[in-house]
Amino acid sequence: MTQISEYYRSMGISREVLEYGESVLLGLRDRFDVIDETAEVNQMKVLGAMQKNRVSAEHFAPGSGYGYSDAGRDALEGVYADTFHTEAALVRPQITCGTHALSLALSSCLRPGDEMVSISGKPYDTLEEVIGIRPSRGSLAEYGVTYREIGLTPEGDFDLDAIGSGISEKTKLVEIQRSRGYLTRPSLSVEKIGAAIRRVKETNPNVICMVDNCYGEFVERLEPSDVGADMVVGSLIKNPGGGLAVTGGYIAGTKECVENAACRLTAPGLGAEVGPSLGVSRSFFQGFFLAPCVTAAALKGAVFAANLYEGLGFKVTPSGSEPRTDIIQAVELGSREGLCLFCEGIQAGAPVDSYVRPEPWAMPGYDSEVIMAAGAFVQGASIELSADGPLREPYAAYFQGGLTFPHAKFGILMSLEKLWEKGMVKLP
Ligand SMILES: *Cc1c(COP(=O)(O)O)cnc(C)c1O
Repeated sequence: MTQISEYYRSMGISREVLEYGESVLLGLRDRFDVIDETAEVNQMKVLGAMQKNRVSAEHFAPGSGYGYSDAGRDALEGVYADTFHTEAALVRPQITCGTHALSLALSSCLRPGDEMVSISGKPYDTLEEVIGIRPSRGSLAEYGVTYREIGLTPEGDFDLDAIGSGISEKTKLVEIQRSRGYLTRPSLSVEKIGAAIRRVKETNPNVICMVDNCYGEFVERLEPSDVGADMVVGSLIKNPGGGLAVTGGYIAGTKECVENAACRLTAPGLGAEVGPSLGVSRSFFQGFFLAPCVTAAALKGAVFAANLYEGLGFKVTPSGSEPRTDIIQAVELGSREGLCLFCEGIQAGAPVDSYVRPEPWAMPGYDSEVIMAAGAFVQGASIELSADGPLREPYAAYFQGGLTFPHAKFGILMSLEKLWEKGMVKLP
């Protein structure tokens, strides 16, 4: 027996589970090579942006107070803008999470009487309260912004005809969600997003196209901002934080959109000029520098999990062989117990809080109970190995993250170990 299998055994992975896992991995070498090539391209994009913005040690100093002339903050925003090929970017620790960034992007560009249209169907759960689909204090609906939805086709593609006829003079902003979120619909590739944006702009060139880019950054060689999006929005405790950012969100886009957002984040007249970087600049730069390779590690974990569970007869989305545009992997466990065991395994494989057992809870912003496994260094960071899922049919675990592939592999094997020990799966 090789030494490595002994390590796995001492860490709680049985020989049967490991052998099955290794047999799955053998078939994935070519896929992994492609993922590594994408990381290489994206690494150069980030590196080039850092060199162009002359990032230097002085940019790591912590800004305080108002944050006037915070050089680190300004250079970081330049790096994001150059990486995403946008005119400007707002990248701040004062943006607390992805929902906050999206809410900011929407509320800063929409005025009473405006209409917003989602063209990728139902948006992410937490946006329901932001928009007011579920009535909520301070929602866009309370401010007189109306909302409509254009669904995807049964195949999960943009419905270009419905977009052509559904966008009107009144439409101010179109929202597109790249990732699947808590749905089992497919994620939308950058190429498809580009085609949808072209259709929107043909219909009404003044519409602002905003893309919820959460979980999508660096998965492909292009970003939605390369194919016409006016704004891309995301969270720093997902892909672009590279696991090092402790909080934060970003909006990259046109100067107009980013200035709108800045004036809403701080105050009219103040805009992006205020907002100290506190002590986060170094970790934001370094995390962004690592992000292409961290995203690649997470992506390999997702592809591994898909093939591992698909081989055992579970429905997985995307399938083991489908191309990817985000790092999320859904595995339909089919029962409450299966979903809970899967999450227990991910938790048991974590570097932090590995000894606790996750329990379902009614998380703010979500309309059904959710179970989450996240033994993360940064609370709730889902670029770190994590799994979560709402306790409703089809009991799908949404699996994502992994700062290193060896850790993602270990956590996934541990999830299978838990199911196997309870007799819920048969190994081939
Ligand atoms: C995570 C996520 C959000 C919300 O981000 P939070 O940081 O959890 O508030 C929005 N949209 C999508 C697609 C996401 O994956």
